[in-house]
Amino acid sequence: MERYAVSHVRETGLERLFSSLQPDIARILDKALAGGEITVEEGERLFHVRGLELLGLMATADELRRRTVGERVTYVITRNINFTNICYTGCRFCAFARPAGHPEAYTMSLEEVVEKAREAWEWGATEVCIQGGLNPHLPPTIYEDMVRGIKEAVPDIHIHAFSPFEIWYGSRRLKISEETFLRRLKDAGLDSIPGTAAEILDPEVRYRLSRNKLSREDWIRIVTTAHRLGIPSTATIMYGHIDAPVHWARHLDTIRRIQKETGGFTEFVPLGFVHEHTRLYREDGARPGPTGMEDIKMHAVARLMLNDVIPNIQVSWVKLGYKMAQMCLNAGANDFGGTLFEESISQAAGSTPGTYTSPATFERLIRDMGRIPAQRTTLYEIIRVADEGP
Ligand code: SF4
Repeated sequence: MERYAVSHVRETGLERLFSSLQPDIARILDKALAGGEITVEEGERLFHVRGLELLGLMATADELRRRTVGERVTYVITRNINFTNICYTGCRFCAFARPAGHPEAYTMSLEEVVEKAREAWEWGATEVCIQGGLNPHLPPTIYEDMVRGIKEAVPDIHIHAFSPFEIWYGSRRLKISEETFLRRLKDAGLDSIPGTAAEILDPEVRYRLSRNKLSREDWIRIVTTAHRLGIPSTATIMYGHIDAPVHWARHLDTIRRIQKETGGFTEFVPLGFVHEHTRLYREDGARPGPTGMEDIKMHAVARLMLNDVIPNIQVSWVKLGYKMAQMCLNAGANDFGGTLFEESISQAAGSTPGTYTSPATFERLIRDMGRIPAQRTTLYEIIRVADEGP
């Protein structure tokens, strides 16, 4: 068997493992350790690894994580506020939306939203994360009204709110440009936006996921506009449905390109498809979410492809569960995400891990891995490192 002549792995103590790997995989992993840029083709190849090669991928991603962000695993105390589930977009993967009049349809009043933010601040949250359905029965100013109302009541809380699709929709309802809408939200107190609604940034896959949702170009234009205006965002992928490794590698490359241009992404968050109550699974033949191996590979390849431009890779404990999240934190990821308090969207689709993780639970789970827990702000400033005090 051809052997790979190791070079950059020497300093990591991985020589033995690397010398047993298929040479093309060892070469890609070695290139990553040397700081080389992993191409789309190489990324796609890594999504197919199994056995020893998978162990090599995990070890390489873990080593890069250690070099870039060290042994801390961060988390943020945040409250999710999903202010309405009324939506008519009809995304095939969504089990959260309801039409008005449905017994499970709900819309929170402005006062309720503000009260939830006030409560969150009193409980120690530094952030509220606000997203909802596209509800045409709400006034077009609702997005600004929520931001302004929260900032008046709790001036120091970080408002992380409104997906690029909500920005798209809100600007159209007000008949103003996306840029003007984002400026107005920022003036009202918006601090950052979630980079959700990205799903897979591939036109064909998107069309099958939702015919009415914003396009790949729309998503890219809105996040780059936000970044240009000084509004950072997260970046996400939703994987494990009708997609394939080639789409994942291209998606990561698109995120990398945007980040090189704007520097506005704070982290990358892989979101595995939660299938149970969705039409995409029940009627369209989608897979029942990613496998455990795919979850690990997604976090590891993300670390290899994004390490130089986005240092933070987040696990979604809501989608993965705690144990799988711990595995991914040993395969390139470094952030445990948020406490959430009352997450509704994954729950509606059939996710089981629960709606709240306390800081004490995060810290136990992180210590159990031999790593160092640290509470952070939305923008990754460290507030407190466990055992070191504030
Ligand atoms: S994913 Fe969002 S936009 Fe699509 S149907 Fe669900 S709530 Fe509406």
